[in-house]
Amino acid sequence: MTDKYAVFGNPIAQSKSPFIHTEFARQTGQDISYQAILAPVDQFSQSLMAFFNDGGKGANVTAPFKEQAYAICDELSDLAKLAGAVNTLIYLADGRIRGDNTDGIGLVSDVMQHFGDLKGKRVLLIGAGGAARGCLKPLLESQAEVTICNRTYAKAQTLQSIFTGYGKVDAKPIDDLNEAFDIVINSTSAGLAGELIKLPEQIIASHTCCYDMSYGAETTLFNQWALANGAQSVADGLGMLVGQAAQSFYIWRGVKPATQAIHETLRAQLK
Ligand code: NDP
Repeated sequence: MTDKYAVFGNPIAQSKSPFIHTEFARQTGQDISYQAILAPVDQFSQSLMAFFNDGGKGANVTAPFKEQAYAICDELSDLAKLAGAVNTLIYLADGRIRGDNTDGIGLVSDVMQHFGDLKGKRVLLIGAGGAARGCLKPLLESQAEVTICNRTYAKAQTLQSIFTGYGKVDAKPIDDLNEAFDIVINSTSAGLAGELIKLPEQIIASHTCCYDMSYGAETTLFNQWALANGAQSVADGLGMLVGQAAQSFYIWRGVKPATQAIHETLRAQLK
């Protein structure tokens, strides 16, 4: 029998997850269906439970429901606990719900694919929202040395205190950043609003590689700024999207799908 999966969000029409998971299933010979479900903003848990009661085996969760998904789980992976947010749900055989967060694994695998091993690399993480928090454990486990900065500095300090036991992590006000990093990761949503974050140029040197979690048909505003200031290379978050989906698929089906071809197809579709 075909196993049912879905992604819940609001809005959701733009989601590439149905395409990605359908491709993963075709590639690995798994018998699954995967649909996008628009949950009303005040009825996420009702929509989700209706899906599970109708035979749904698992779900992805995207904005604005990741924190609500976290709150309704009966059990959580370590990554989800630390992230305070869930993007992958598993409906267990006994009717309990388990939550996981695969964003950080998606990010780190894509950053390493583009820029190589992170061990000992000095990484600047810009932003301290949900995406930054979800990525910190995998980043620190890859032995990167992470500095967090954020428009609202107190949030960067909070993340530093949460993750301080997991590796080398500190927080700095944006205006105090006066040296170049090996890798700069933009996890802010500024670009979605067409805004460019104000950053000191000194964070970029000729060896600096920059990664923007946002993505689009054109080079993102942040990556344009990085290239204009002499960065060695840039990448956007399309590969992170595919990587987090691959990890969700692995959690549900126990099979790791290949990601490169789907990444290239999505890139071509964007253009
Ligand atoms: P949140 O709303 O949780 O956090 C937003 C962050 O952006 C905060 O740190 C906020 O700072 C900062 N910010 C917003 N506007 C500005 C601005 N004009 N100048 C400076 N800082 C700003 O969002 P998420 O963390 O969930 O998502 C962040 C981004 O990551 C989004 O673009 C999202 O699309 C992307 N993302 C991509 C994924 C992928 O698979 N590629 C997966 C998950 C997220 P402050 O605290 O001061 O408000």
